[in-house]
Amino acid sequence: MASSFQEYKWRRVRLWKLGLTMGEYDQYLASPHWQALRKQKLEQQKSELGYNCCEECAARPALTRKTALSVHHVTYERLGEEPLEDLKIICRPCHDKEHGRDEATQRKYYGPKRFE
Ligand SMILES: [Zn+2]
Ligand SMILES: [Zn+2]
Repeated sequence: MASSFQEYKWRRVRLWKLGLTMGEYDQYLASPHWQALRKQKLEQQKSELGYNCCEECAARPALTRKTALSVHHVTYERLGEEPLEDLKIICRPCHDKEHGRDEATQRKYYGPKRFE
């Protein structure tokens, strides 16, 4: 994985190309493109394993709001046209870890809002 700063730059540039600012990343996450893609990723895993789980620790949290699995960007290099290989299904604790577990780090690179 590239450095957080490199990922930050990629994310900013790719969002810019999509006409969005960093503060509008939640709009990207709400877009039909991303919603379809994350669903596709979850369905791919389900067809392979028969269920969804965290690719990091194999936890199988229920797909409810609080404990939902996230579809994480391993890299933001191709944001907007991500191949499924750039994505990873991950549970909340593992996801926090991937993005720097402490809140200050998360806020610095990802903003206070939701991220994937
Ligand atoms: Zn996990
Ligand atoms: Zn993530």
